[in-house]
Amino acid sequence: MIIAIDGTSGSGKSTIAKCLAKKLKFGFFSAGELYRAITVKVLDLGINENEDDKLKYLIENTQITYTFDGTSNVMYLDNENVTNKLHTEEVSNFVSKISCKPFIREFVRKLQRDTAKNNENIVMEGRDIGSVIFPDADLKIFVDCRIDIRAERRMADYKKLGEDVSIESVIEALKDRDYRDIHRDISPLVMCENSFLIDTSLNSVETSLNLIFQEMLRRDLIDTKFLEERGIKLVEPVE
Ligand code: C5P
Repeated sequence: MIIAIDGTSGSGKSTIAKCLAKKLKFGFFSAGELYRAITVKVLDLGINENEDDKLKYLIENTQITYTFDGTSNVMYLDNENVTNKLHTEEVSNFVSKISCKPFIREFVRKLQRDTAKNNENIVMEGRDIGSVIFPDADLKIFVDCRIDIRAERRMADYKKLGEDVSIESVIEALKDRDYRDIHRDISPLVMCENSFLIDTSLNSVETSLNLIFQEMLRRDLIDTKFLEERGIKLVEPVE
């Protein structure tokens, strides 16, 4: 089974995707983290976003290993663990200049398809999973959230990384990134027709997961035995 999770930047889709994979005992793959890993190398080497020849050479000569142990994921770039470098402000602000390149998308797409082949069940997260990568995904989820709440969460992440940024600059950066992701020619961020919408401004992670399990039951993707076997208890919505 493939569950595709797409959504806006900083909406909490990674958290939901990871928790969902953990609870369902599925594999997990974040396309955004792949684009981020490539961006880490681009920035380390000081390559400009317009230098396509250098970028092509870079991805042909880069080894990426991405693992998920059921709880957390680890990214190796040319045998160096770069997991802690993926979510810095510098990488977040540059990544969409790299992810719009067709040859970079092709490279990531291949890794996504190979990963899905090696996992019977997987939660895959990104911007174009339901629309382009796996249009036949068993369940498509779209995650969104109000921009002020997204910005506050991002600020907390940056604080943990010891980065000092203003809320105004975080809001501007999120808007810029959404704009670039939504308006690019290739694989723009869209909400697919049959997607299940989760708004994390209104719902906690726990509630969001509960809504997803209920939707999976409603669409006959799983039954109550499947949930029981994984120790998942549904919470009835409060009237
Ligand atoms: O999801 P995350 O914020 O980590 O994604 C980082 C960036 O990677 C996005 O802003 C987007 O430019 C790019 N991305 C993409 N297609 C995907 C996933 C991520 O273009 N499927």
